[in-house]
Amino acid sequence: MSNVLKKLEILAGAAKYDVSCASSGSNRSNSGKGLGNASPWGICHSFTEDGRCVSLLKIMFTNYCMYDCAYCLNRRSNDVPRTAFTVKEIVDLTIEFYRRNYIEGLFLSSGVVKSPDHTMSLLIRVAKELRTNHRYNGYIHLKSIPGASTELIREAGLYADRLSVNIEIPSEPNLKMLAPEKDYRSILTPMNSIHQGILVSKEDTRKFRSAPKFVPAGQSTQLIVGATPDTDNQILTLASGLYNHQDLKRVYYSGYIPINTNDSRLPVLSTPPLVRENRLYQSDWLMRFYFFRVDEIVNDRHPNLDLDIDPKLSYAIRNPWMFPVDVNKAPYELILRVPGIGVRSAKLILTSRRYGRISSYQLQKMGVVMKRAKYFITCNELGSSTINEIKPENMKQLFMPKKEIKKKDKHPGQLSFVFPD
Ligand code: SF4
Repeated sequence: MSNVLKKLEILAGAAKYDVSCASSGSNRSNSGKGLGNASPWGICHSFTEDGRCVSLLKIMFTNYCMYDCAYCLNRRSNDVPRTAFTVKEIVDLTIEFYRRNYIEGLFLSSGVVKSPDHTMSLLIRVAKELRTNHRYNGYIHLKSIPGASTELIREAGLYADRLSVNIEIPSEPNLKMLAPEKDYRSILTPMNSIHQGILVSKEDTRKFRSAPKFVPAGQSTQLIVGATPDTDNQILTLASGLYNHQDLKRVYYSGYIPINTNDSRLPVLSTPPLVRENRLYQSDWLMRFYFFRVDEIVNDRHPNLDLDIDPKLSYAIRNPWMFPVDVNKAPYELILRVPGIGVRSAKLILTSRRYGRISSYQLQKMGVVMKRAKYFITCNELGSSTINEIKPENMKQLFMPKKEIKKKDKHPGQLSFVFPD
């Protein structure tokens, strides 16, 4: 195996735990008779500003790291094979893969070597070389190093399409416990610089069409779920603040993967909390597309998400006074709160009712999931009982999966991301 290929194996493998760009995560070996292997590392998928899905070469510059974050495979106290690419090696790999159409972009992160600024400069050199010497127009996602200076963050933003600064742990005291060398200031300061840079760039491009673009695909971050006792309320409140104040494009939630099992600061888990991770993604979706406030999904009285049912259904069952909603009269925002009605069908309802009263048959045709929605709506020709005629304690049972859940419990693989309608 060539030197670069060996490095690629180590440094693509080391990058797989960063979900701040999405990843396929599949692992399948060739039995010797088939075609190819699938690895959980290497090429992953992410989404651009205009919604396109792009395949990215996902690697670390180096997995040497001077920090010792408890949850990380690459922490300095772990005995793992270490290596580092050169700038030229990453540039050559990216160009070669791009030319062959294997990838549409690069996701580059790194362990911290010498200092945050030194590491950030290395990442910038790769992006700069690609953009200036090779006139590379593919997608670039750079991981910003916590603690890197504002000047370097500004420079990185001129070459990268997206920057991410990972918060990882959803509260500062717990971050200090698990990652003693990091603090919220070193994470939020670069995040703030990116946000300011994006605002200035938008203003500049309004005035001069040729003004250089700064991080055109925005910024994202990752939160690790389940490594600390932080509640879903804390996690979603933090995410909501980031969307509102830093204008983040995405917050990624990563169920804690028990890697360093002998570290007493970490909980003992046999598998990552994937159901919780999925419920957080569903809640995030509700905040971004369904006009839900975070305190409607979780709050002090209800600090954690219900793992049995999705958060939209959970909200509806906890707020029966709001239902049934008359689909022929209710405003868009209220129709969106009905379990079983998604953004597309809510828009269709609003358009269709201009032409006459809507029946349950028409709702079905529009894509409304009637077996969920029927308890929460009134419309023409709907004879079933609504939420107010069913005992509250029986409501949740109506939506609980029956036998299949036992099978899944035995083999809890990655859940598919089914977002609440
Ligand atoms: S700084 Fe990053 S690479 Fe280094 S130990 Fe912490 S999480 Fe791992």
